Amino acid sequence: MIEVDLIIKNADELLTLSPFFKDESRLGIIRNGAVAIKEGRIFWIGRAEELSERFTLGRGGQEIDAKGKTVMPGLIDAHTHLIFAGSRENEFEQRIQGLSYLEIADRGGGILSTVEATRKASFDELFSLGKKRLDRMLSKGVTTLEAKSGYGLSLEDELKILQVMKALQNNHPVEIVSTFLGAHTVPREFREARDRYIKLLAEEMIPRVAQEKLAEFCDVFCEEKAFTLEESKEILETGKRYGLKPKIHADQLSPGGGAELAAEVGASSADHLEYVSREGIKKMAEKGVTAVLLPGASFFLSTKKYPPAREMVEEGVSISLATDLNPGSSMTESLPLMMTMGCTMFKMTPREVIQGTTIHAARSMGREKEIGSLEIGKQADVLLLDIPNYRYFPYHFGVDHVEVVIKKGKVVCRRSEVHAP
Ligand SMILES: [Zn+2]
Repeated sequence: MIEVDLIIKNADELLTLSPFFKDESRLGIIRNGAVAIKEGRIFWIGRAEELSERFTLGRGGQEIDAKGKTVMPGLIDAHTHLIFAGSRENEFEQRIQGLSYLEIADRGGGILSTVEATRKASFDELFSLGKKRLDRMLSKGVTTLEAKSGYGLSLEDELKILQVMKALQNNHPVEIVSTFLGAHTVPREFREARDRYIKLLAEEMIPRVAQEKLAEFCDVFCEEKAFTLEESKEILETGKRYGLKPKIHADQLSPGGGAELAAEVGASSADHLEYVSREGIKKMAEKGVTAVLLPGASFFLSTKKYPPAREMVEEGVSISLATDLNPGSSMTESLPLMMTMGCTMFKMTPREVIQGTTIHAARSMGREKEIGSLEIGKQADVLLLDIPNYRYFPYHFGVDHVEVVIKKGKVVCRRSEVHAP
């Protein structure tokens, strides 16, 4: 008998997302499934019947009965703007009343208002705001997320944001993959001298971020009113020279060749893609660029233009779904809600939205060997869901199905109990 630390058994459906377990769902489902976890990693996985004669719990070990429930890998949110101060509920209301983006900006709203609030906020304030958001995400089943800077837009303020992420990473079970997004927009003080801002990005900010090892990726908002194709390319190539892997906010508001650029620079992902061209999709498929789609932004801004997810699937692009958590266009920490929207708005299937928030999301941040599926040797990031089967997850929406969250083999969240008389 081998001693292990944690056993989960009797799961009605155990979604491995592993190609080793072939079944018609293509999610690698094991019925009456079991997982044995040792030292933070998946030690064994298979049918519950085979478990009892092989494993026993070590001292302080724990067993979880998953009868009637579904077990799957921890969710991965591949695109968030986790660290910001202030909020923009006024803007939300103005938009409902029909004000345009420009009118809202004229009244002091928009992204620059968040930059102003974030610059004013202290390290500690940003840390506690970030921690609250991570707690909410964890309770929704998220065990890893990608987080972008981009509300500082000065050397000092961008470093502050990235340092907050690093501190959170060391003090919270949710794992953070950091991205430098100094090219989010041109800050107010450089409005008349955008060349100087790009120079600042390339010559001071990127080298410093890389030197202090504060980010793994470099992202650019490639869009008519943000950064042009040429500027985006220059910034991403500079990032690459300093070891930061490229990502792009591409083709969100207009067809701008962002997807093509993502393929050209070898980006890990191209995100948004509402206006992606057919050519762009083909090139992404060719170069293995993951599409990160953000239904929360389409939903929150009430835009009718959706990314052509079916076309991407047909061309062989791997699709991930993310919250895009940010105060302007997608104020939510709920990745499960994005799964439902991926189904209803983008016509993705329940299988595809589950892949999009696990293994494909892991791939979009270069973590597919470590997380995103339940396989022997991988990190033990596991969810226990109070649902009878996987289709139920996006189907019953707007409520919490997560019962237990396990990160690196440890139970880090249990559903809070209702104390009704
Ligand atoms: Zn974004």
